[in-house]
Amino acid sequence: MPTDPVFSVSPIPAFRDNYIWMIDNRTHAVVIDPGDAAPVFAALKKRSLQLSAILLTHRHEDHIGGVAKLLEKTGVPVYGPRLDAIESVTHPVQEGDTVTLFGQNGPNLAVLDVPGHTRGHIAYYAPKEKWLFCGDMLFGAGCGRMFEGTPEQMWASLSRLAALPDDVQVFAGHEYTLSNLKFAREIEPGNEAIAERARTDLARRNRGRPTLPSTIGLEKATNPFLRADREDVMKRLEELGHLKNRNPVNSFAAMREWKNTYI
Ligand SMILES: [Zn+2]
Repeated sequence: MPTDPVFSVSPIPAFRDNYIWMIDNRTHAVVIDPGDAAPVFAALKKRSLQLSAILLTHRHEDHIGGVAKLLEKTGVPVYGPRLDAIESVTHPVQEGDTVTLFGQNGPNLAVLDVPGHTRGHIAYYAPKEKWLFCGDMLFGAGCGRMFEGTPEQMWASLSRLAALPDDVQVFAGHEYTLSNLKFAREIEPGNEAIAERARTDLARRNRGRPTLPSTIGLEKATNPFLRADREDVMKRLEELGHLKNRNPVNSFAAMREWKNTYI
């Protein structure tokens, strides 16, 4: 009986707070959102891995800026959102498509359309391995800015991710968790799960460790943007003068707007 191949996911820190996620099978690697090529080349060299594909979640430069340089040395397929129309993408994908990594025995990643941050933003979800690569859509205790979508769209996208199983690991594109948790505590001062997460994640950062991946279950318990439909959260937003007409979309929109100016 052949044994199951072993896949692992590791972060490649880039710029100030980006994570380029790398999936490897011990000989080959796939990178997600390589905003910069240099740290990817360094990580590949260090572990003697050969790049076999690039996956992109959306068109922003800090997620795609390294693609051209990576392609100079390796002609690998580049998967990316059809609607974001990124020049370097060789395999445009959208909802309903599946990307299989490392040949037919590799992890299967389902493409989910999650518009809002950009019009074409996609996430990659591996149901078997329980991985979610969500770019700038969902962050640790937060979510991306709503650059191109409506609150309805963004709330629908987040609700969709929240509906995934609780033990799915969330690999987000930035290390924003601590500052997001500060905002989360403002919204829900009495939420003990938020306070506990803040303690755990602060300790991680103090040791130079990422706060990611988190899990869908943890996000549902601590991420205010996934909790915008709760009566107590809406009541709090009303009391603070941020929300007028109580419904989940308005609550999400009020929170997102407040966060834009929150220090
Ligand atoms: Zn972005």
